[in-house]
Amino acid sequence: MTMKRNDRKKHRAWIDIVFTFFIFSLVITSGVLIFLSLEKSASSSSTVKKEIEVPVIIDSIDSNYPGIKIVTEIFNDPFAPSAIQYPQSIHKSFNQKISTYKQQAKEIYSAKMNENRVKQLDIPGELNISFETFSHQSGNYSFVLVNTSYSGGANGSTEIQSFHLNPKTGEEITIQDLFSSDDKHLELVSKLVREKLFEDPAYSKSIYPEKAQLHTEPSWNNFSNFAVSDEEIYFYFDRYPIAAKSAGVPIVSIPLLELNSVLADVFKVVEEDVVQSPSEDSSSEEAVDEDGADTIENPESSETEVPPTIPEKKRVALTFDDGPDPKVTTQILETLAKYDAKATFFMLGSRVEYYPEIAKSVADAGHELANHSWNHPDLTKLSGERVSNEIHRTTAIIEEVTGLKMTGGFRPPYGSVNKNVRAQTDLPVVLWDVDTLDWKHRNPANLLASVQNNVNDGSIILMHDIHQSTADGLEAMLAYLQQEGFIFVKVSELDK
Ligand code: ZN
Repeated sequence: MTMKRNDRKKHRAWIDIVFTFFIFSLVITSGVLIFLSLEKSASSSSTVKKEIEVPVIIDSIDSNYPGIKIVTEIFNDPFAPSAIQYPQSIHKSFNQKISTYKQQAKEIYSAKMNENRVKQLDIPGELNISFETFSHQSGNYSFVLVNTSYSGGANGSTEIQSFHLNPKTGEEITIQDLFSSDDKHLELVSKLVREKLFEDPAYSKSIYPEKAQLHTEPSWNNFSNFAVSDEEIYFYFDRYPIAAKSAGVPIVSIPLLELNSVLADVFKVVEEDVVQSPSEDSSSEEAVDEDGADTIENPESSETEVPPTIPEKKRVALTFDDGPDPKVTTQILETLAKYDAKATFFMLGSRVEYYPEIAKSVADAGHELANHSWNHPDLTKLSGERVSNEIHRTTAIIEEVTGLKMTGGFRPPYGSVNKNVRAQTDLPVVLWDVDTLDWKHRNPANLLASVQNNVNDGSIILMHDIHQSTADGLEAMLAYLQQEGFIFVKVSELDK
């Protein structure tokens, strides 16, 4: 009996220990979970408040510039529209610098536009920030941000600001790094820049010689606004101190070869590279000519042979502007595939350059690609030559990346179009009749609501494939339209 009781006691003690352990570990685990979730919500709410960029994971596979993402923010406010594009990396300090620059530009613009509102000046303004990327074989990128703004006056103002990053190391090169911080080296830079500046017929008439001399003195500060590619170094100067208004932003480019003797080792041009490039160029040009003719003519001829189908059903054209985007566009493609829906994507050339693989995947899925300009300026404010450049450069990159003729037509940024703009292209201008205002509300649920009361047979619905909320709200909208008896067609099929 005693033995048994002891056994039972022992047994109970063993159960107690196990049970205590179980409870103990349960408490620890839930404690850790609660702590983690609290920390997460605390950090996410603080990031919203301070507007600090949340570090993003950069997908280097589908970018033309590995380690860099292109962010596009477009506000279609009819009085104070803006389109801002900037590079983003995984490096906090770089992102912070870009963010500060962007924030300042936005604040200056909205302050001026608010002033105009108060004065009841009803001339719409515009803020456009876009950038060009130069890469150097040392692994360094130069980003040249071009800020053009109009705020009531007839003439816009343009400013250029460069940023630098090695996306692998996070290092940001300076002008001193290029020339080994050697003042003697800088003297040669200054001498060459002056020569080019005074010789250039674009500046020679409008330049103020004394001031130009002052701003090109061999001081590091004078040359801190620069970009470097494998072939050249570009220097950007503020317009006002140096030249008259008509001149534009003075830019001086110098072939790296001319500076080889004073460049730091990693930036020196290797002689072999120089000899090779001309022969490479001429051979690739021939190849492009033959290829181009083949790939562009075939799809066109096969398309015209297809007899036009006359559907009984109501038709609607879904259109997505301002992309492509690696995440949002890809999610939209998945949703469209579920409903066997074909759509038209009005792309920005600058983003196609960054994400050629995404643009190609849209075409490969049977959707239509179309032209939405290179970097989203209000084209009615630009010269004919610049409008033509915005449109043709974009068509060219879309056709190059997809290997197909672009069929979807042209949609001017902000829907802003006039005679001058129309004169620059034969592409049909495509606007819309149903505006989802997705850029404004950024709410998935509003997407369906915006369509419900406005959609008709033949409607063109405007959406943007750079907002996550649009991708998230799309399925509900497609389900509704399908249930209402609509079929989804490309824009070019609407008038058939
Ligand atoms: Zn747009």
